[in-house]
Amino acid sequence: NAKEFGLEWNRYTPTLQMHAKSRLDLENEMRIGIEREEFFIEYQPQVHLNSGLVVGMEALVRWNHPLKGLLAPGEFIPLAEESGLIVPLGDWVLRQACIQNKLWQTMGYTPMVISVNLSMRQFRQFQISEQIGHILTEIGMDPQYLELEITESMTFDKEAAFGQLKSLKKLGVAISIDDFGTGYSSLHYLKSLPIDRLKIDRSFVKEVMEDNNDAAIVSTIASMARHLKLKVTAEGVENHEQLEFLKLQDCHDAQGYLFSKPLSAMEFEDRFLSQQVS
Ligand code: C2E
Ligand code: CA
Ligand code: CA
Ligand code: CA
Repeated sequence: NAKEFGLEWNRYTPTLQMHAKSRLDLENEMRIGIEREEFFIEYQPQVHLNSGLVVGMEALVRWNHPLKGLLAPGEFIPLAEESGLIVPLGDWVLRQACIQNKLWQTMGYTPMVISVNLSMRQFRQFQISEQIGHILTEIGMDPQYLELEITESMTFDKEAAFGQLKSLKKLGVAISIDDFGTGYSSLHYLKSLPIDRLKIDRSFVKEVMEDNNDAAIVSTIASMARHLKLKVTAEGVENHEQLEFLKLQDCHDAQGYLFSKPLSAMEFEDRFLSQQVS
């Protein structure tokens, strides 16, 4: 995993020398690509399980590379993290996602929460909450409609994370822990961090019907979240059996191909937004 073992990539070996050049190319292409607006966002619905209503959406970035074609985030986010380009790219995603969400609200659609992934580098930025606050003010978006997704590893330095999270919460945005269960955050940390939601990683949901251990993990996370008064979203829900299991565990929301893959703004609007009757 290039993201977690970033340092390994920098080791000077003949095989990786080749990688170094193509990495540098890609890095430069990414820099230019941000300026040329080759990146775009897809939106995946988040469904409230009790009502079956779409209550939110996650913004997921894609790159329309001039030569390589469509690239998934797994193909460029790790490098963007390493090089620091994730900061301008992540800012662009956040801004773009909020502009789209605000536009939908202005058009009269029922307001929904938009979730945006925040990288480690962004999270660690000085005055991140002020920066996000400025963006929201500029766009005229109410902070209650923005949720930021961070991963467990970002809370490793507890003191630093606590400060950042507290200022983000003060801004009025919600915080969720993404890919929950795959990191190493202690439950003790979890108790004291100002967070709103856990997103159960897709790797546990995948075989929840076949693997008793996965079922136990999902059920334990859901019940723990309930006791800690956190909301829970299950990721990667692909079939009805999984959905029924998650409902039994009192999981609040779910996301996955069962409902929809990530869609362009236009497709999302057509399929999941409905005009408010006023
Ligand atoms: P993630 O935040 O865990 O996002 C969920 C990923 O699972 C997405 O992959 C989504 O398309 C995929 N997915 C959703 N439902 C299902 C399902 O039912 N089955 C399966 N097999 N997959 C499902 P995607 O779009 O390729 O994104 C991969 C990762 O890239 C994201 O994982 C996130 O960590 C990162 N990423 C995406 N956009 C951004 C961004 O704007 N900023 C940052 N920092 N990271 C991003
Ligand atoms: Ca996410
Ligand atoms: Ca996730
Ligand atoms: Ca994941």
